[in-house]
Amino acid sequence: RREAARAARFEPGATRDGVRVEVAANINRAADALAALEAGAEGVGLMRTEFLFLERDSVPTEDEQEQEYRAMAQAMEGRPLIIRTLDIGGDKEVPYLGLAREDNSFLGLRGIRLCFERPDLFLPQLRAVARVARDHANVHLMFPMISTLEDFRRARALFETVRLELGAPEVPLGVMIEVPSAALIAGALAAEVDFFSVGTNDLTQYTLAMDRLHPQLARQTDAMHPAVLQLIALTVQAADRHGKWVGVCGGAAGDEVGALMLAGLGVRELSVSTPQIAGVKAALRGRTLPELQALAREALTQPTAEAVRALVRPAGRGEA
Ligand code: PEP
Ligand code: MG
Repeated sequence: RREAARAARFEPGATRDGVRVEVAANINRAADALAALEAGAEGVGLMRTEFLFLERDSVPTEDEQEQEYRAMAQAMEGRPLIIRTLDIGGDKEVPYLGLAREDNSFLGLRGIRLCFERPDLFLPQLRAVARVARDHANVHLMFPMISTLEDFRRARALFETVRLELGAPEVPLGVMIEVPSAALIAGALAAEVDFFSVGTNDLTQYTLAMDRLHPQLARQTDAMHPAVLQLIALTVQAADRHGKWVGVCGGAAGDEVGALMLAGLGVRELSVSTPQIAGVKAALRGRTLPELQALAREALTQPTAEAVRALVRPAGRGEA
């Protein structure tokens, strides 16, 4: 049995009727890549590059960043690697950057907004990624906290300038869908991006207006809230119209109920923490796509997150 479980975790992620749902890992350091692959990761769906900045007391240089991204790409051996540009601000403070304090840091200069203010941080990072992309296929670049179409165009223009200067090939460019406005203009974004990855942690925080770290609100801050699911459904529909794919790299992807709902909504890549990979693959294998689609349709009509969760019972006990 143990050997069967081991073999199962190296099977590609798929529903029982064989529809592919890639299961990737959220890891930040190349040092964690081996463990993720051993756990059955099919790639890296989210590399949070801010961790490189958070773990030290000075800005990592372009060369140092290149080294880390290159090591990760090497470890992936051609599997997809999605590098997310710096998402500093909000709760992620980097003391040595000397950033101004903000009253509403989650609504302030966070993620891509800070990067636009600080080309001294952003451009070396973009250059480091482009340099790695010269030597490794399947490197993807993703921008966090996109809330307008202009955000994406501006980020893309900066990267394209750097990429052409360095003679790097085209790199698939994606945006995180983690602000409600981005989900609501997903049609316009989908026409221009290569992929979406939904950040359910922030999408839930910003949709419900509940601080994701607030101890008293934690229980209610649930990505299975039908309002959040509606936004994800809109995102997938828009992406489908433009032939683009949608992944999820927020916490909901690693939760069994979340993984099933998201696959039912049309998400085709789930990026989760390493210990969650096997469980997510097993959950997907327990259901057919039509079952999951029926579940997701039902979920969208529920009034509460609790009612959505009640739709899913352990596999084999018969429900929608
Ligand atoms: C998210 O918001 O869901 C996400 C994956 O990004 P982070 O948790 O790094 O904000
Ligand atoms: Mg986020």
